[in-house]
Parts: sequence; structure tokens; C-alpha cells
Amino acid sequence: MTDTTSGLPLTSSRAEEIFPILTLAQIRRIAAHGHMRAIQRGEVLVEQGDSAVPFFVVVSGEIEIVRPLGAAETLITVHRPGQFTGEVNMLSGRRALFRMRVTKPGEVIELDHQQMLALVQTDAELGEIVMRAFLLRRVELVAAGMGDAVLVGSTHSAGTLQIKEFLMRNGYPYSYIDLERDPDVQNLLDVFHIAASEIPVVICRGQLVLRNPTNQQVADGLGFNEAVDQTHLRDLIIVGAGPSGLAAAVYGASEGLDILVLEASSPGGQAGSSSKIENYLGFPTGISGQELAARAYSQAQKFGAQILIAKGTRLASDRKPYVVEVENGARIPARTVVIATGAEYRKPPLKELSRFEGAGVYYGATFVEAQLCGGEEVIVVGGGNSAGQAAVFLAETTKRVHMLVRSAGLAESMSRYLIRRIEETPAIVLRPQTEIVALEGGDHLESVRWRNSQTGQTEEHKIGHVFVMAGAVPNTRWLDRCVALDAKGFIKTGPDLSPGDLSSARWPLARPPYLLETSVPGVFAVGDARSGSIKRVVSAVGEGSAAISFVHQVLRE
Ligand SMILES: Cc1cc2nc3c(=O)[nH]c(=O)nc-3n(C[C@H](O)[C@H](O)[C@H](O)COP(=O)(O)OP(=O)(O)OC[C@H]3O[C@@H](n4cnc5c(N)ncnc54)[C@H](O)[C@@H]3O)c2cc1C
Repeated sequence: MTDTTSGLPLTSSRAEEIFPILTLAQIRRIAAHGHMRAIQRGEVLVEQGDSAVPFFVVVSGEIEIVRPLGAAETLITVHRPGQFTGEVNMLSGRRALFRMRVTKPGEVIELDHQQMLALVQTDAELGEIVMRAFLLRRVELVAAGMGDAVLVGSTHSAGTLQIKEFLMRNGYPYSYIDLERDPDVQNLLDVFHIAASEIPVVICRGQLVLRNPTNQQVADGLGFNEAVDQTHLRDLIIVGAGPSGLAAAVYGASEGLDILVLEASSPGGQAGSSSKIENYLGFPTGISGQELAARAYSQAQKFGAQILIAKGTRLASDRKPYVVEVENGARIPARTVVIATGAEYRKPPLKELSRFEGAGVYYGATFVEAQLCGGEEVIVVGGGNSAGQAAVFLAETTKRVHMLVRSAGLAESMSRYLIRRIEETPAIVLRPQTEIVALEGGDHLESVRWRNSQTGQTEEHKIGHVFVMAGAVPNTRWLDRCVALDAKGFIKTGPDLSPGDLSSARWPLARPPYLLETSVPGVFAVGDARSGSIKRVVSAVGEGSAAISFVHQVLRE
């Protein structure tokens, strides 16, 4: 990972931002946060897999960063005077991805994890230089597949796809070896005594072998959660690291709260699966959900929020402090809780669905999506109000809207006014008792096959746009109704809580619940999981950040 010929070639031309050379004045400011240390040639400053990795600024001498693999080493980069070590793992306090060795003796400034966090939080100029370099270095490592994890899998295995997605969405660099394509793979399997039936396999730091692991096992094997104390009482636990949870983490941590975020899978939530968000304020050319999530995740960590990759399985809210139980059995106490577990769109069980998400398959029908299919034929799946609204809206700009519903008609599921509008719009063709059975195409959806369940007849149509509007299911089952929910399982908050809700929940305070507060004092709900919320990134972010002002008020009560 260097601009010299000796290390990894860079994919970006921003070498001076990836490996900046600090000025003397900047180096002096860093020195005030840490201490000077002499370094000797051959000295290993950090070993791959070390926890508590320090941050070094080279004053004189040279440090090389190498990836050990068996007896061999791959040179990643060389840090020279004025340059600094580290990448995003340093923010989270996770284990070192690489070995760090002195190649020329000299002197370095050494900062421990807390001192480094204090530096990036208090010195705006250096904070920006260091954060940008860390993020860009991680981008280069992911692009080069250079990390301490090796995934051995097969393109035809769903398990492989799931782990690839998990590592990718967690921004974790790994090398991939395909069982079908790589002739050397058998040797590797033999070394670790792995049978082909145990694929996919993740090899962590060349030692730990995980056979057909779950996401949680991969997270544990790679030490995602090791730096997180799961016992101490925190000001706030945020459950869910989608846009709303990450916004709460950034605002809360920047305002000095001691915060832990629990995330069942990977930061970013639904937004992380969006190839381009075009309507988020401040990004006129759009931003991928993955990039937005990665930035927010680093921002939250910069301010000191910690993130645990684990699923919340229960909220014990009968006494204070509250306790959030997680999948691995830990019981984490908190003075306040923000529930930001979002929703999942009901998805038809189609093999190729995820491949075309954002490339012909959409879960929202806004102006942006409508523009993508102007003048063409489209399909809307679903018989509820959201599907009806989408069909009417899309009929204004498209050639024809095929509305596919499973039931015999719309009467049961849709408001009368919408049914009338659909009936009066010639461009909408209602296809009752019809379901999509296959999607086909290359990079973009090209054709759709549907089947009428009454006649059994199957038809194929050259249509490249499918709007899945089959409703969203909130991720609130894990709460086991310990907070008041609406009829669809979304969490009721603030003025939406009726006197009946509050008396069934035995609301104990003289004051009514704050705006985003649930039926349990000090427990808030934000984003898509909240009843009545607008299912958009920007509103989720707004609610997550607004919840923090109420958290402060509860902590003062
Ligand atoms: C494909 C797609 C494209 C989209 N495009 C746009 C767009 O262009 N513009 C726009 O404004 N909106 C868009 N949306 C909608 C937008 O993404 C959502 O409104 C937004 O992500 C909601 O944020 P959230 O934080 O409330 O919930 P989510 O994004 O749903 O995040 C919830 C998080 O909580 C985690 N979680 C769930 N249960 C648990 C548990 N028990 N323990 C721990 N963690 C848990 C999940 O893993 C997830 O990461 C899109 C949605 C999809 C699916």
C-alpha cells in the first residue's frame, strides 16, 4: 500500500492523502499527546493480531508494514520521517492486521489508543488528516484483498455469498480463494485438514479455521468485539446501526455520552444495500449506502462510540438500569436505550432478487426511480396502499404499469379512493392472482416471468423495472412487546401513545413521554422501526440525532 514500487500499488491517485507527510509544527502538536521512543533495526513494534495497537509518527528512521502468510511476507508499505502508522482498526481498538517492523533505526512518537482518539477529537486539522488517511488506507486494503482473513468458498454457495457480503459491508479486507477456479486451493485445504463439504471456510490470521461459520462466528474469530467491555454501565445503548442508530451514535458520542451500539450484522442497515442514494442532503451526485455507512461508522468511532457486532435478543426494562441481552449471552446495562432496529421489506422468494436490487428492483417509488423508467413498462408488486400509490404515481411517466397481486382483487387490502384511481387509469393493468417466478438479465434486469396461480399460465415479458411494495416488517419481535407497539408491530412513541397504552405500560412519571420516547421512560425508538416514521434515510438520521437531546434530559432527571 505505497506509492513506491516496493509495496502494494494504489488504486487511487491520492497518495499524498493516503500517506501524508506531516509538517514540523504538526509533529510537535502530536508529540504533546504522546511520548518519544527510540527504535532499533529489526525491532517488531506490532505483531499481526496484537491488541492495543499504538499509533506511531516516524521522526527519524523507517518502519515497514508487512503481511505475514506462513513463512512469507508481503510488503504493504514503508513509513518514512513525517509519516504515521495505522488504519481504521486503530479507531475501534481492534487487533492489528499486519506486522510492523523497524527497517532503519531512529525515533518515533508513540500514542496509545486513548491518546490517539484525544488527538483526532481535539485537533481539527490533524483529525482530518489522520481520519482521511485511515479511511483511504482501508479502501486500498479492501480493493487489494489484503487483510488477515482468507475466505475459501464457491461462487455457487449461498454461505460464501453471505460471508462475502458480511465482510464487505463491515469494510473488512480479506483474500478470496474460489474452490472451482483456483488450482492451488486443494493444497490449502490439505494444510488445514478441511473437507470440501466444510466450505465456506474463513482462516483468521493463518491460524483459526472457521468451517461454514455464521456471521457472529466470523465477527468473533476476527476479533471484532474483543475491545468492547460488555459489562460496564453505559449512558446509552443504541440497538441497530442503520442510518438512525449511527446518527444517534455520532451526536451522542460527540456530546460526551458513553455509548455502545449493537449491530446484528453490519453497519448501514437497509441504506447499506442501496447502490446510490440520490436524495440525501448534501450529496448532489449521490452516495452509495455503503460509503455513507462507512463514513458514519468511522465518525461515531472517532467520537468514542463503541460498536459490538451482536444481535440484541431481549430488553429487560422492568427495573433500572435497563439491560440489553445479546446473542452471545452477555447482559449489558444502560441508563437509556435507543431502539433503531429498522425494518425489513417483505421480499418475494426469488433467487436473483438481490442481484438486481437497485438495478431494476426497487423498494421505493420516488421521482428518482420514476426517472429511471420513463416511457417504459414497469411492474408493481403488492396490493396495499403503498403499492397503489406507487402504481398511480408511476403511471404518470411510464408506458404501462402491471400491478401484480397475489389475491383475487384489491378490495381487502387497499383504500377505496386508490382502487378508484387505479380503475380510472388506463395505463395500469391489474393482474390478480399473479406472482413473479423468475428474473433475468445481465448487469441490469432485462426480463421477468410471472405466473397466474389460477390458470397456471406463465408469461415472459421484456420488462426491466420491478417495484416491490409488499410492505415492511419491523425488526421489533426481539422486544417481546416490552414497549407498546402498533397493530403492525412498529413502536409507538410520544404523542402516538394513548392514555390506554400508558396505563397498560404502567407509565410511572408525572410528565408525558418525550417526542421519540416509548412507553418505557428513557427507552426511545427512531427510524423505520418507529410507528408513523417516514421510511427515508434523511428522516432516520434526523430522528436518531434528535433523540439525543431527549436522552440528555432523561439522564438529568
Ligand atoms: C434497497 C433500498 C434502497 C433504499 N434507497 C433509499 C434512498 O435512495 N433514499 C432514502 O431516503 N431511503 C432509501 N431507502 C430507505 C432507507 O434505507 C431506510 O429508510 C433507512 O435505512 C432506515 O434506517 P434505520 O436506521 O431506521 O433502519 P435500518 O436501515 O433498517 O437499520 C436497522 C439496523 O438494525 C439492525 N438490527 C435489526 N435488528 C437488530 C437486533 N435485534 N439487534 C441488533 N441490530 C439489529 C439491522 O441489522 C440494521 O443494520 C432504501 C431502502 C432499501 C432497502
